[in-house]
Amino acid sequence: MKILVANIGSTSLKWRLFDFSNGTERLLHKGGVERVDNHARAIEECLAALNSGGHLGRETDLAAVGFKTVMARDVSGCVRITDRVLAAMEAFNSLAPAHNPPYIAGIRQFQQRLPGVPLIALFETAFYQFAPEAMMRYAVPEAWHRAGVRRYGFHGASHKFIAERSAELLGREDVAERARRLYVDGGRTPAREPSLRVISCHLGGSSSVTGINNGVAIGTSMGLSPQSGLPQNNRVGDLDSEAIPYVMKTLGLSVAEVQRQLTRESGLLGLSGFSNDTRDLAEAAEAGSESAKLALAVLAASARHWIGSFFFELNGVEAIVFTAGIGENQSQLREDICRNLDELGIELDPALNQATRATEAVISTTGSRVKVLVIPANEELVVAREARRLLESNHIPLPTNDFTHAFTHNKEQTYASSHWTH
Ligand code: AMP
Repeated sequence: MKILVANIGSTSLKWRLFDFSNGTERLLHKGGVERVDNHARAIEECLAALNSGGHLGRETDLAAVGFKTVMARDVSGCVRITDRVLAAMEAFNSLAPAHNPPYIAGIRQFQQRLPGVPLIALFETAFYQFAPEAMMRYAVPEAWHRAGVRRYGFHGASHKFIAERSAELLGREDVAERARRLYVDGGRTPAREPSLRVISCHLGGSSSVTGINNGVAIGTSMGLSPQSGLPQNNRVGDLDSEAIPYVMKTLGLSVAEVQRQLTRESGLLGLSGFSNDTRDLAEAAEAGSESAKLALAVLAASARHWIGSFFFELNGVEAIVFTAGIGENQSQLREDICRNLDELGIELDPALNQATRATEAVISTTGSRVKVLVIPANEELVVAREARRLLESNHIPLPTNDFTHAFTHNKEQTYASSHWTH
């Protein structure tokens, strides 16, 4: 069974082709095209690359195309893409302006180009469907909540991969299986005692920290939009809501300009004044730049804030995991984040930490009660696995109007008849 995972940006298309034949799980091909002004042409290039590489006999050999979609109004989980799902994504365009519009446009092109191939969305919000309500609510008036103002959480595919992989590495196959089956049974697969508690730190161009208990998320740093939580490359992260009316009045900024500055000129870029990339910042900090040092220090402080929050909520953890571009590569930042935590049983091994780049490793001391791990991100594999599960299973998670309890509304259906019934 061959599944293509398409990662659609406003001017790019990246893809990975997986083969799940004969019980194996193989990455057959990965590629991408940048600076495209036309998704239709990008899709042709993708299919041509797959064909010429001999990875695809015929286009109809594709069992599905999977998409790591970000968010949609009242829809989450892993679902077959229908017009209703696309309309639900469109309804949240303003919350994910950099992601939803290009995804919708790209998916429509795939629909036209590959009409017989099932298109499947795994929403980045899916991993948080089972988090406790108290961890996901904002203290806003009921009308705001009904309008959709709540925490959704993002980077779900990445954190789910960490939930699965960390459990495997820590020898807890029961928890790994529970995490794998999360969207099939809503976390009802039993796990052995004691529970496995993990904090997953996805630190990259966009960052979030998620608390995970026995393979299921209990909360995350990102909220209503991907603009929240930790400071991002050029997006603000958490901000007191009063700051917005205040700068509108005192600096005379319009809503659109405030939004532009918070999403384009804030985060690490706003703090440093010159770069949104931690590689530049680390180099500049080394050369004495105070603003670069500050940007990195704010990122580390915010990561510690969220790690601390989930450490407390989970009553301690067995492991803290670093993943994504910064988490995998920036040993200095990992050191800054884990500094002075020995009283909590968290002790980094400086040599192991420094030697680890973009590879799976334990970077804590042998005596550290809490293991600190680096696990390279593998979000596309999660999308492909969930798409496969949806194809193979008769348990089709249907889109639901009740986001919080999405799973309980799922109906058993055959794949062919899967559609929105609410
Ligand atoms: P991601 O969004 O996961 O691709 O992460 C991108 C960010 O990770 C970049 O903006 C850098 O801050 C950081 N990063 C990526 N690659 C490296 C590397 N090789 N060394 C250090 N930092 C890196």
